[in-house]
Amino acid sequence: MNEFELIARFFQRAPRSADVRVGIGDDAAVIAPTPGMEYAVTVDMLVEGRHFAVGADPRRLGHKALAVNLSDLAAMGAMPRYVLLAGALPGADEAWVTAFMGGFDALARQYDVELVGGDTTRGPRNLCITAIGELPAGSALTRAGANPGDRVYVSGSLGDAALALAVAAGKTEVDARSRAALAHRLDAPEPRVALGVALRGIASAAIDVSDGLAGDLGHIVDMSKVGAALSLAAVPCAPSLRAKLAGTHKEREIALQCVLAGGDDYELLFTAPPPLGERIEALALALRLPLTAIGEVTAEPGIVVRDERGDRLAALPHAFDHFR
Ligand code: ADP
Ligand code: MG
Repeated sequence: MNEFELIARFFQRAPRSADVRVGIGDDAAVIAPTPGMEYAVTVDMLVEGRHFAVGADPRRLGHKALAVNLSDLAAMGAMPRYVLLAGALPGADEAWVTAFMGGFDALARQYDVELVGGDTTRGPRNLCITAIGELPAGSALTRAGANPGDRVYVSGSLGDAALALAVAAGKTEVDARSRAALAHRLDAPEPRVALGVALRGIASAAIDVSDGLAGDLGHIVDMSKVGAALSLAAVPCAPSLRAKLAGTHKEREIALQCVLAGGDDYELLFTAPPPLGERIEALALALRLPLTAIGEVTAEPGIVVRDERGDRLAALPHAFDHFR
């Protein structure tokens, strides 16, 4: 199969949305912007051996490659609309591409996202997705709007994906049922799209947790020129993690690392003024997604985490950094 046969077989499709004036098959896609709306545009790259292991399940990879991009759009409060998919592949492995596109298309259908272009080349396996979302002009949730006195919230639970990795690496153990649930959280993250959209006009700042709570909250406090105080006991996490936090010194260290610095959870971390607390509770019920207050924004810069006894944690684990 050559490049053009690959494109025709796996990627070519007629435009679905009337806004896509020119779709796949020309030199560029042409999209008509909706009046009064703005585009949020993001790109994320997944490199074999770096973000996923050699031999990783291609269907899950197709899901995850798209999910991480939709998560970035969610963190801006944008509704995902279009994606472009650039892939370097070591060869025209039809079974691999079929499975990858199976995972990709299933998630794209779920969120009504349309593939409008991309690039296909031979090379070390590398998947790069550009996602475009829409939002009413001026309504984007940025990292820069947090104010002292705001509450800090997080969706879902934190540390699951990192614990799955720690278990896979043989650093710690969990029972078989927890193991499966944690692995699912690592392999098939659900982008919090409905939450992001619903937080327009509510959240003062937002970010998705891709590099760990401490690091990602660090981006909000830096950009907002504020600080934050968190309560470890309030941070929502899986029962297996909670148990490890109460376990031996070594188990607690691993759990702290997962909860405070574990990446790949793709939950939304956001701030909001206390009077909006009831609206956030109602939103959690409507979305059937826990939204937990874990601390507050402070005027003093820096992040303070208090442990279960109210003592300040001496050192925060570092966020993931590719170049550190
Ligand atoms: P060009 O050389 O002009 O960039 P290509 O031959 O690379 O065009 O691509 C032909 C068409 O197929 C373009 O519309 C491009 O966006 C689309 N395309 C190529 N690879 C992919 C892909 N992996 N997913 C989606 N569309 C793709
Ligand atoms: Mg090209």
